[in-house]
Amino acid sequence: MGDLTFKGGVHPFEGKELTKDKPIKKYLPKGELVYPLSQHIGAPAKPVVTVGEHVKIGQLIAAADGFMSAPIYASVSGTVKALTEPRLNAVSVYVNSIVIENDNEYSHVDYDEVEDCFSLSRDEIMERITRSGIVGMGGAGFPSHVKLSPKEPEKIEYIIADCAECEPYLTSDHRLMLEEPESLINGLRLIVSLFPNAHGIIAIENNKPECIKKVKELADGVDNIEVKIVETKYPQGGERQLIFATTGRCVNSTMLPSDVGCIVMNNASIMNMYKAVKFGQPLTHRIVTITGDAINDPRNFDVPLGTAFLELVEAAGGFKVEPEKIICGGPMMGFAVFNTDIPVVKTTSAMLCVTKDQIAMYESTACINCGKCVEVCPSRLVPSRLAKLMEHNDIDAFEAMHGAECMECGCCNFICPAKKHLTQMIKTGRQTVLARRRNRK
Ligand code: SF4
Ligand code: SF4
Repeated sequence: MGDLTFKGGVHPFEGKELTKDKPIKKYLPKGELVYPLSQHIGAPAKPVVTVGEHVKIGQLIAAADGFMSAPIYASVSGTVKALTEPRLNAVSVYVNSIVIENDNEYSHVDYDEVEDCFSLSRDEIMERITRSGIVGMGGAGFPSHVKLSPKEPEKIEYIIADCAECEPYLTSDHRLMLEEPESLINGLRLIVSLFPNAHGIIAIENNKPECIKKVKELADGVDNIEVKIVETKYPQGGERQLIFATTGRCVNSTMLPSDVGCIVMNNASIMNMYKAVKFGQPLTHRIVTITGDAINDPRNFDVPLGTAFLELVEAAGGFKVEPEKIICGGPMMGFAVFNTDIPVVKTTSAMLCVTKDQIAMYESTACINCGKCVEVCPSRLVPSRLAKLMEHNDIDAFEAMHGAECMECGCCNFICPAKKHLTQMIKTGRQTVLARRRNRK
């Protein structure tokens, strides 16, 4: 039997060899640090510091504003310069942000480490995770404590650690698995212990044999946790695709993974949950890949949140040639940016700088009815038809053809020989349908 997978998907150029063998390097920022108050799904955090106040690493600077929100902590020591200054983020929107001037001392608050984190009660573990400010670090930004609070915890059967890292060029999860596999196993053990009937699955794509070997060696001695090897195919790390590949269960846009007894969590989120529960460390840093053929020395950095990407590009040797395109995130689901002076936030995993913009190279032409977009769509949709309906602004027909099931993966765009902007059109339709459904409630 082959490795586990889903129907559809594509095999884009991987580009991972640029950084996968380079150890994570710690980066100490030089300039000011910028913390958008909204770096998660839900209500923006509320500042709890004052301008001119001196803060240390690990100090709370913005509190969660309700259950669906997440706190933010200082990642350097220094002086608060602003509380709600509009700053550009990775999707080219100005968002209110706290700004801290780095004092380059890197002093931090005392963390409340516990001797045996596995003896803590469910409430104690959840309190430490909620306090840490961890969110879906693969890009979703969903507050982790909310994800771990399903209505019926006894119905959760699988906690799936998403270690697929299917986006081309990204290698931060790859390096974390090689350099800190204990945190992954321990984090998953803690999460599984929150649910009476849960089993842990670590899903790794088969293009990472050294990670599979290392994580398997550690997981083999642990009860109730197994490693499952999934096929290397984009978007294998998508929540619905991973659930289907590892459990055979199906989720659609009207359901949550918990409706089929599953919770999927990103590798980096799980590792940081272990650090939060065991060492009392809030989320202050993340691993970021700076890569692409326009970068002199592509690599992975361990970065304080709030660091400007332009500093990281410099730390990676700068541009060897002027990039034609800069993407925050991976090439399939990332966002094109025109400025590298944007901060690293909890959900940003990479900056990709390429010398050729593959999309801009070609003019979009008429559909030739080749059917390739239908073959690759992991949501089993008819992208060519959905895009046509959007050209006519026929939202009712778009909804009737299940357009809301699109996961905006970009596979149809990638494969289309006519270079039609299918994902963008379908994304607009999907967001209109979802907004309409919310208004009907
Ligand atoms: S229609 Fe949506 S889910 Fe299907 S391939 Fe295109 S972007 Fe992906
Ligand atoms: S892949 Fe492009 S050209 Fe082929 S059917 Fe789909 S939209 Fe038309």
